[in-house]
Amino acid sequence: MASAALHLGAGAATLLRPRLWPFALGAVALNHLVLTATGLWPKSRLLGPNWTRLPADSACRGEVAITIDDGPDPEVTPRILAQLGHYGARASFFCVGERVERYPELAREIVRCGHSIENHTQRHRHTFSLLGPRAIQAEIARAQDSIARVTGVSPRFFRAPAGLRNPFLEPVLCRMQLRLATWTRRGFDTVSGNADVVYRRLVSSLQGGDILLLHDGHSARTVAGAPVVLEVLPRILDAAQSRGLKPVTLQQAIDP
Ligand SMILES: [Zn+2]
Repeated sequence: MASAALHLGAGAATLLRPRLWPFALGAVALNHLVLTATGLWPKSRLLGPNWTRLPADSACRGEVAITIDDGPDPEVTPRILAQLGHYGARASFFCVGERVERYPELAREIVRCGHSIENHTQRHRHTFSLLGPRAIQAEIARAQDSIARVTGVSPRFFRAPAGLRNPFLEPVLCRMQLRLATWTRRGFDTVSGNADVVYRRLVSSLQGGDILLLHDGHSARTVAGAPVVLEVLPRILDAAQSRGLKPVTLQQAIDP
């Protein structure tokens, strides 16, 4: 709204005092620069509420959230479920709607194992942050429908592809009663196949309240050709266990 007011003000100033047009144009350009920069910074809160850590109560209980994006994936997801099950840990899967439709049994298995599925758009378009309000709404609503139809459970959290967004997102999330969640730390496990590096990025200062980002879809491969997430996740679960931290879903962080 502040941005809309600035545009109107700049227009009015130019009409009343035509000589002021360079200043009006400069103000509008600066406004767009700030909005764009903020949208390119996933952890920013300038465009609306954004979970970059779990709420204080949850952090005090020693809870951490492992979030796993871009699946379900027929090769990787079942093995992640087995690893989580071995440790009795819960995770939040930010799934892509059309992949949930392609692998419905896998999506139902995620929920059966006690994890939650959250909304990561219907198609995971890399142009998501360039879309207007109606297209943003459509991407999120279609994913919400796909996930609810397949699993019987509606997501309560949303994460944008690559965490990139624009000012039109927050009003849509607000209408759909979805919370935006990003992360405290990410391992860049779609880019780096080096399990040690990914592990250190995520766990170097692990503490209660952290939200960690990993991927079951688009996982980078180790030199041996294995999805890197499968080597990193058990080490993270070990580290959490040895520090007395409990991996929970984002929803459990609100409703223990
Ligand atoms: Zn993603």
